[in-house]
Amino acid sequence: MGNSDSHPTPLYFTLISNKRAADVLLREAEQKDMYLEECHDDRSNALARKQMTYTANSISPQEAEQYRAILHNILPQIPARLRMDLQEIQIISLMPTADGGMPHTRPPNVICFPNLSQVSSLSTMIHELWHVHQRMYPALWITVFEKMGWKPWSGTIPSSIERNRRFNPDTLDHPLWIYQNQWIPVPVFQDMSRPSVDQVDIWFYQPYEQYHVKSIPPELKAAFPTAPLSAYEHPRELTAYVLAEPDRYKSSPGFHILLDAVGQLSIQSD
Ligand SMILES: [Zn+2]
Repeated sequence: MGNSDSHPTPLYFTLISNKRAADVLLREAEQKDMYLEECHDDRSNALARKQMTYTANSISPQEAEQYRAILHNILPQIPARLRMDLQEIQIISLMPTADGGMPHTRPPNVICFPNLSQVSSLSTMIHELWHVHQRMYPALWITVFEKMGWKPWSGTIPSSIERNRRFNPDTLDHPLWIYQNQWIPVPVFQDMSRPSVDQVDIWFYQPYEQYHVKSIPPELKAAFPTAPLSAYEHPRELTAYVLAEPDRYKSSPGFHILLDAVGQLSIQSD
């Protein structure tokens, strides 16, 4: 490890405009996380993705120029900690139906956009960059989550819930966490007979008393009352949402705990 304090490594974006090069990156990512294979092998997740095309999309030279300019302009607005801790970020365009149109990351440093115009949203970019950061610094993030009251859950959940759990490429390796040793959030397909990637509810399973609730438990809601429902599916999502739009959470009781753990430079760009 070098001395990152005296020599901050600047973050930079590489927009992969060549479809074949992007597909190579996706294949390399697949060898690492096996996301598509896991989806394929699971009945509900396979069904939910049946109509989707998960491959790279081509980017025209004009679009590439336009989006490189956007990425160049966005860079100074990215929080300093991300700019110091991350190096190259590879950006690829996917077919519009890929993953229900939702941006996401793949290992080791790839951000996938089913709609490339999502690149112009600063909060979306920061959210995805925190997911890359979570991939790069797993031990640090376990510590952060534990300070926030979360622990990895290595026990089981009922098969009736597990069968309908929607996989998420950003949480695939450690999908289940327990909050205050009480609640395990699980993203569950709303329509189990016709699962859709973008139509999920979050269920909260209480493993010791063996029941679940379908609304956010008050203990969890109290820490970040203004977070959207999708933030509650996983501490990686919760922290990515909060750090991407800190102004929205400044009065949340959980905010200072998170900020103490990750530092002020995580929400400041200079
Ligand atoms: Zn996310």
